[in-house]
Amino acid sequence: MQPSLRRLTHAAAVLALALGAAGSARAADQQLLDGARAAQPAVIQSLKDMVSIESGSANAAGLARMASFTEGRLKALGATTERIAVTRGPGTIVKGTFTGNGRRRIMLIAHMDTVYGPDTLATQPIRQDGNRLYGPGIADDKGGIAVILHSLALLKAAGWQDYARLTVLFNPDEEVGSPGSGDTIATLAEQHDVVLSCEPSAGSVVMKGQPLLLASAGVATATLDVKGRAAHAGAAPELGRNALYELSYQMLQTRDVARDVPGAALIWTRASASGPLNQVTEQAEAVGDVRLTRPGALEKLQAALQSKLAAGKLIPDTETTLTLTPGHPPYVADQRGRALAARAQAIYQEIDRELTMVPQTGGGTDAGYAARSGKPTVLESFGLAGFGYHARDEYIEIDSIVPRLYLMSRILQEIGRD
Ligand SMILES: [Zn+2]
Repeated sequence: MQPSLRRLTHAAAVLALALGAAGSARAADQQLLDGARAAQPAVIQSLKDMVSIESGSANAAGLARMASFTEGRLKALGATTERIAVTRGPGTIVKGTFTGNGRRRIMLIAHMDTVYGPDTLATQPIRQDGNRLYGPGIADDKGGIAVILHSLALLKAAGWQDYARLTVLFNPDEEVGSPGSGDTIATLAEQHDVVLSCEPSAGSVVMKGQPLLLASAGVATATLDVKGRAAHAGAAPELGRNALYELSYQMLQTRDVARDVPGAALIWTRASASGPLNQVTEQAEAVGDVRLTRPGALEKLQAALQSKLAAGKLIPDTETTLTLTPGHPPYVADQRGRALAARAQAIYQEIDRELTMVPQTGGGTDAGYAARSGKPTVLESFGLAGFGYHARDEYIEIDSIVPRLYLMSRILQEIGRD
């Protein structure tokens, strides 16, 4: 996921008030809190272990080691584990299933891949500086995996089994849009009542309060492909059909179409044509970035673009093909998600912490796949607070470890009781 949260700070603060962290806080569950405090050194060790495994989205060997690591840890917690093949790209999905004696079906998700290329550790090694623990991928999303593993250890120690089924899913391709795991996440999520997604939470340099995320944009890629006709640019230009001219026309003709589609935005960001300099351009292509903030907006955008394309051409006999390739679907916490967020705030109050909310971010996350069916309650950003993801010098804030373990374990208990 992407940061860019700074300008949202004010809105988030307002929302925090609106969600009403009012009322007197309950007493903390002392056993869980003590357990979370005692677990902090082990969490730090798990983070170091995972960051030591470089697992960029294209790094098959690293992703295989991450799968072994996480599967081993899930087994040690008592899960039945399985590997699910991705439909595209390297890596494998790791699924752990716990069967309890309650009624609710709960799913926890985080991703094993990072945005970093090989040997990033050589220039950005694991190091601690005060409250910051640095390492590539430590926040996004190894911190999320650590929250899941160590919260489940706390709950296991407490003898908690108040769930019908608890599913843990770690995927290997979130940073490239989850092309090989998104459908699996969506299908499994549909079979659960609640999905908690564990992307990192914004660090304190961005905003205070280790926020949860209430919405993230969906993403898609738009492609315009124009076929023209080649001809000698000097000797017989009138026989040619210039694909580059037609592409330019269609890009301009469609540039504002998304404005009339609620919840959709489109910007053409790349165009290319190649071929001999002395030839009328035979083929040209444009690629655009699509952002979606409402379910169903992609289909409406497709229809609107098609009808605009059908409205006319600049160059007769050219042929323009539009393709929209979906990435992460949009995620918008519904009423149930917001109610759960308010409970998370109350849980933070038990330990004298304030939990804020980020209303919306522009980057896609797997919460979008989890929410695609509209069936489960989905809430995002249960991972550790951190900063620098998708950039340099990524770190987590050590003082977010105890609150996040406490939050995850307490909210699971509450969901189980519902
Ligand atoms: Zn992530």
